[in-house]
Amino acid sequence: MYLAKNKTEIFNNVENFSKSSTRTQDVKVIAVTKYVEAEVAHQLIETGVRHIGENRVDKFLDKYHALADQPVTWHLIGSLQRRKVKDIINFVDYFHALDSVKLAQEIDKRADHVINCFLQVNLSGEATKHGFLQDDINQALEEIAELPNINLVGLMTMAPQEASQAELESLFEATYQLKEEIRARKITNMPMTELSMGMSGDYSIAIKHGATFVRIGTAFFQ
Ligand SMILES: *Cc1c(COP(=O)(O)O)cnc(C)c1O
Repeated sequence: MYLAKNKTEIFNNVENFSKSSTRTQDVKVIAVTKYVEAEVAHQLIETGVRHIGENRVDKFLDKYHALADQPVTWHLIGSLQRRKVKDIINFVDYFHALDSVKLAQEIDKRADHVINCFLQVNLSGEATKHGFLQDDINQALEEIAELPNINLVGLMTMAPQEASQAELESLFEATYQLKEEIRARKITNMPMTELSMGMSGDYSIAIKHGATFVRIGTAFFQ
């Protein structure tokens, strides 16, 4: 069964990469199930996966309702339109794509409890990527600090698809350093202990630079 085999291989890789990383972090694997139906996601859970990620609201809700009794943590990893916040936010354990202050304000308003969020940052400045540009981050943090229903657990980033190994190294390292810098400010609703970075093609490099959540899709299902 390829699911079980892929799962074992991915979890072994993650353990080995994190052991050889100079940053001795605990790394959680989010299985990104956007390519498969709920039934396949269920089989994956049976292999021992405990974090499920979806990038779209409709697909998140399908899986969430189909697998409501399963012992998993639910991650919304893709961008969220403000008008859809009320339909989903209270079901999400971690939201990885907080990319505007207006979205944060809408989440704060619609949440019935404190929501764990990652600030999505775009330190490469690539125009097609979502996420805060370097120059806009401090202003955003000031405004988000006023929102009691937002808990900023860390930063999330996505590398440009064509990035070289050297570019990935410097992007992931810059994201780690920024996370540490914000954490040192000790802002009440910003513990900043987590880093969501690394996908099927680049999770070894992300873990080397301090990722605590990797978001892996393709490698589970190939
Ligand atoms: C699809 C997706 C992933 C997983 O990517 P793979 O290359 O399939 O591992 C990770 N993060 C986000 C935001 C995604 O949309």
